[in-house]
Amino acid sequence: MRREGNEEIDPEFVARLASYLGFDKERVQHLFEKNYLARNWGKYEYLLRFDKEISHIERGTVLYEKAASFETIMGFPKIRRAMVLDPTIKRHFSGLEKVAVEEKMNGYNVRIAIANNEILAITRSGYICPYTTQKAKEKLNLKFFDDFPGLVLYGEMIGPDNPYVSKEIYDIESVEFYIFDIREKNSGKPLPINRKQEILEKYGFFQVRFFNEFPLETAAEEVIKIIRKLGEEEHEGVVIKDPDMVLSPLKYTSSQSNCSDLRHAFKFYNETGRDYMLSRIVREGFQTVEWDEDEIEFGKRCMQLGESILNPLRRSIESVKNGQRLYEEARIKVRDLKTAAEFEDYLKRLGVDAVFEEPQPIEEEYLIIIRKINKSTNDKTQAILQGETW
Ligand code: ATP
Ligand code: MG
Repeated sequence: MRREGNEEIDPEFVARLASYLGFDKERVQHLFEKNYLARNWGKYEYLLRFDKEISHIERGTVLYEKAASFETIMGFPKIRRAMVLDPTIKRHFSGLEKVAVEEKMNGYNVRIAIANNEILAITRSGYICPYTTQKAKEKLNLKFFDDFPGLVLYGEMIGPDNPYVSKEIYDIESVEFYIFDIREKNSGKPLPINRKQEILEKYGFFQVRFFNEFPLETAAEEVIKIIRKLGEEEHEGVVIKDPDMVLSPLKYTSSQSNCSDLRHAFKFYNETGRDYMLSRIVREGFQTVEWDEDEIEFGKRCMQLGESILNPLRRSIESVKNGQRLYEEARIKVRDLKTAAEFEDYLKRLGVDAVFEEPQPIEEEYLIIIRKINKSTNDKTQAILQGETW
């Protein structure tokens, strides 16, 4: 990913920032030099982003000057994964009577907040995505931000017109925001689940599906039932939460979702990290043991896992052999072509190799297909087919 170049940093600004963060000036200077702390660009230049986790500050945290001080929008913390449900749930949430189970929806993580009177959709890494920001303005009840300027919506952008993670499984026509957390600015402290639900309902936001609260003792077996059903619909999985949101959550996913990740991973096998592939295969091992599967069920799992690895590999290799280039297709829908142009510029800035096709007018909007070229898998496959060794 291309980084913005170093600029001259005003020493007085560094001093104020250092005192706000509780770091010494040299450390802040160093963070800027390393680009661990960097500015967004263009009209969002006033927003600093942490490109790396520093002390207690999440990666993707954004901060900006406000009044005589600063204001922070904390990054979304990584959720730990349960590899087996029992005893992990009991152990992780030990001391609680009940845990809440929500659907883990599969889209794109985004924070929506107001800063300097401007609505922003912030990506996991702390960039301001112009496309997502425009969608947020169109889709969300912005009165919420007038009433609660100090709160941040944490949600998932879902649906087919999503340039990042496009899924057809949710019966969403274009894109929608499904909110899963509301957190305070600065502290990053999440609201308890019932309070969150109350507010989301009041403002008419979509929220992630809430299954129920379950006693700690029986939560694992309940989650297994939920996961089986979600899996049948190709849905991703669940996030298990402390109803008061004091203890950190846990996540767990369906086999179908692991396999779907693997299909994508092996289609572009030379782009995908090996940890990403390996972890999804290992999850299948723990799930078959925890679910105590018989030979028939196990056989089915083996077939599904094997197919999600080999089918995309076969297709990719055959395509290259037939002289085709491998690419990933995404799409966006915009009311104003300016949004598409801004988004194109944004992807270029991030160093993404993407080709935007001619806009197709559809009703009041334009549909634009985006092709992302997967150069590394293309080149590798071609080289191997020409006799190169691995
Ligand atoms: P993955 O989505 O594959 O788990 P990740 O690296 O984004 O990858 P985490 O860092 O653990 O995983 O974050 C959990 C992800 O789950 C976030 O991207 C978040 O947007 C998403 N998510 C979906 N539904 C929920 C929910 N109900 N509660 C919390 N997070 C959720
Ligand atoms: Mg996800």
